Amino acid sequence: MSGLPLDALPPGPRRKWAAARVWAAHRAPYLADALLTLDPVVVPDTEVTGGGAALRRFPADTGWHLHISPAELDRQSVPRVGFWVLHQLAHLLREHAARYPGAAAPLPDAAAPGADRTPDQRTWNVAADAELYDDLSIGWTEPPADPPPPHALGLPGDGLARRYWELLRARAEPLDPAVAAGDCGSGCDGQPRPWNCDLPPLPRTSARLTALETARRVREHLRTREDVPGGWRRWAEEVLEPTVDWRRQLAARIRRCVARTAGRVDFTYRRPSRRAASTPGVVLPSPHQPLPAVTVLIDTSGSMSDTMLGRCLAEVDGVLRAVGIGRDRLTVISVDARAYRAQTPRRLSDLRLGGGGGTDIRAGFDAALARGPVPDLIIALTDGHTPWPDDPPPRTRVVAGLLDPAGRTPGWATTVLISDEGPRAE
Ligand SMILES: [Zn+2]
Repeated sequence: MSGLPLDALPPGPRRKWAAARVWAAHRAPYLADALLTLDPVVVPDTEVTGGGAALRRFPADTGWHLHISPAELDRQSVPRVGFWVLHQLAHLLREHAARYPGAAAPLPDAAAPGADRTPDQRTWNVAADAELYDDLSIGWTEPPADPPPPHALGLPGDGLARRYWELLRARAEPLDPAVAAGDCGSGCDGQPRPWNCDLPPLPRTSARLTALETARRVREHLRTREDVPGGWRRWAEEVLEPTVDWRRQLAARIRRCVARTAGRVDFTYRRPSRRAASTPGVVLPSPHQPLPAVTVLIDTSGSMSDTMLGRCLAEVDGVLRAVGIGRDRLTVISVDARAYRAQTPRRLSDLRLGGGGGTDIRAGFDAALARGPVPDLIIALTDGHTPWPDDPPPRTRVVAGLLDPAGRTPGWATTVLISDEGPRAE
């Protein structure tokens, strides 16, 4: 499709579009440069099957063109249009098209103009939208209901699209058709759409530079203001410091759980205390609250590598000590098809790890929860090739350190993928 320049719109709609862009830049000033990189293209409603409704979300393509339906521009409010512009920009900056796991599958007739998207494409769209939901928590009095927040879909918060995709695909029941109907275009899954324009794309290098520059802006903005949503903060960290590895992620997750267990709601918004200032990056549990009790479950089934287990365990131990949790608050239980004797090691080298057979991590949960006191935090180090309890323990947070990307963890556990192959996007 040829696509028309913005000038093709009458003055009124053109002003509305400009107002939506201003709205977006005002809500997320750190994205202002990236917003200018987007190239708006007008798609006449008569040229698309289904008219403007197909372009309800102002879908982008991988070349950073944003497709505008005049009918939708007319129908939606300025903030709503601005919202979709930021939403599509988030798909592009987060490179959802390149990350679409279904891309390797043969395309049936999805490429043909007017053809519908595959179920995988729809699922990925929902998963990617769930990942970027938090990016758009920008001071709404009433946040838009479409797309829905992850928790409305029964998904955990703070997740990445790949994980959401797997959780959604593992479900027996199909997606709610109303939720699955929203199409964010090629910018979300990299697959063709009938309305895509044939204008030259933004070169990949320019897209990459835009992402880097935007990440720098996010960080700069954070020096003076705190109103950057958590999703953008984490994204900027990943972009600027791709060396972020599982150790840092694991440490961050454990610290967050410990901080919350110790009575803090969200340490990232907390003013650092003087004690914390002397140990940068470390959140110390409040002295008034009891220190959390932590149980580490170690999957010692035959498929686990001793080296990785050892490094993982040393890491967990280091993080716990850094947040002030002594070994007397730490219990270690090794599990294969059954749970072995609980240990409270004075030194890690004192640990005796039994097992080596098949895995059933549920036995470890049973053993951990049967003991007194019930742990505040369970850290399960496993390859994930195990059944899990159906429900989360009622008063215990769970962090799963997953040593095999092919393994599975339940949606109720906070999962960190542990890998020797360096950083991972998922
Ligand atoms: Zn989307």
